[in-house]
Amino acid sequence: MFEDGYKVKPMSKNDIRKLTDMVRGFFKIDPKKPFPVLQFIENVVPECVEGFTFAILDDNECEEGLLAGYYPIEKQLRCRQSVYQKAFDGDGASRGHLCHELGHIFLHRNQGAVLARGCAGIGQHAKYEDSEWQANTFERELLIPFGQLTSEMTIDDIAKIYKTSTALAEVAYDRYHKNLWQEI
Ligand SMILES: [Zn+2]
Repeated sequence: MFEDGYKVKPMSKNDIRKLTDMVRGFFKIDPKKPFPVLQFIENVVPECVEGFTFAILDDNECEEGLLAGYYPIEKQLRCRQSVYQKAFDGDGASRGHLCHELGHIFLHRNQGAVLARGCAGIGQHAKYEDSEWQANTFERELLIPFGQLTSEMTIDDIAKIYKTSTALAEVAYDRYHKNLWQEI
């Protein structure tokens, strides 16, 4: 059982991988290169989500502790200035925070009322129907295309090639080597 986020429509890792592969394919994004997170948010998401806005907030305007967050009712992705700057400079963790929010946009935007209300669905549920687990999986799959991994790649190779945090590269590496992909 899992209780990190809200209960949403179930999606397996394979469902999410198919979606991230489709996103890259549809928008002709090279799976051998780092995902262009900011260009995607600034140029592509507004074409996909009517009314979408991207707000970069001064650190003193930001809710405490907020690095980046998607507000489904307002259709707004908010990001702390320092996170934006770091993502712009290629910092893996900051790129990851933004891709996690892209996960909420792509996977949960039509379940926004539930996410924003923060009541229905919270509590114990399976991980594949947990909003945070799904967004974390989307983040990893979007940044590190599973089909591109090879047995020769080290964790550092993966992090460097795809401009991710070492922690995210390590999870992808473990999944590849332990063949955990099919666990759901
Ligand atoms: Zn989240």
